[in-house]
Amino acid sequence: MDEHLDKQSTEQVEALRRELCEYGRRAAALGLVIGTSGNLSAREGDLVVVTPSGVALDRLSPEDCPVIDLRGRVVAGTRKPSSETPMHLALYEATGARAVVHTHSVFATVVATTMTELPPIHYNTLLLGGAVRVAPYATYGTPELARNVIAAIEGRQAALMANHGAVTIGGGLEQAFEATRLLEWLCEVYVRALGVGRPTVLTEDQLTAVVERALRG
Ligand SMILES: [Zn+2]
Repeated sequence: MDEHLDKQSTEQVEALRRELCEYGRRAAALGLVIGTSGNLSAREGDLVVVTPSGVALDRLSPEDCPVIDLRGRVVAGTRKPSSETPMHLALYEATGARAVVHTHSVFATVVATTMTELPPIHYNTLLLGGAVRVAPYATYGTPELARNVIAAIEGRQAALMANHGAVTIGGGLEQAFEATRLLEWLCEVYVRALGVGRPTVLTEDQLTAVVERALRG
């Protein structure tokens, strides 16, 4: 670890590296990622720990995960940060997120390939902030894709990426990961519902009533 980091930062960063491995394995076990696709990161202060390029998420060890600063410069680790790092850094800059999860999960990608947003067909859509927008397509790893995702995720915990996949943010890796699972579930329900008939979309009034119900506890 970099000699400029104090002991406490070092311990926190090492804990995040272990967490990345844990959630990487869970993402692979749940079929949310295959091979070397998908990437995760978590922020601690001015540092970000990110999964490396070219290593399958279920085979990661903590030292495989580069530690970078908010400009993307490697502070610790020998592997190359994920190619999608510019998008992760843009999300940290634009939101209060402490973690980012990006996958090419099947149903999210199906919706992202055919729709401009995932409509609120289930009230749990509200847990992601509402209808999930699809960011317009741009080549992976580019600043253009990062900009499109920032615009799409505004006021949300999730965005879909046209012809590509999904990205979620959270206050920590657990929250971002659960948002990814929920988004994939919502997309699966929507896609399967389309096979049966025409899915009904919840109205604004119905969604407002859910928020009011939740506030009453
Ligand atoms: Zn991707």
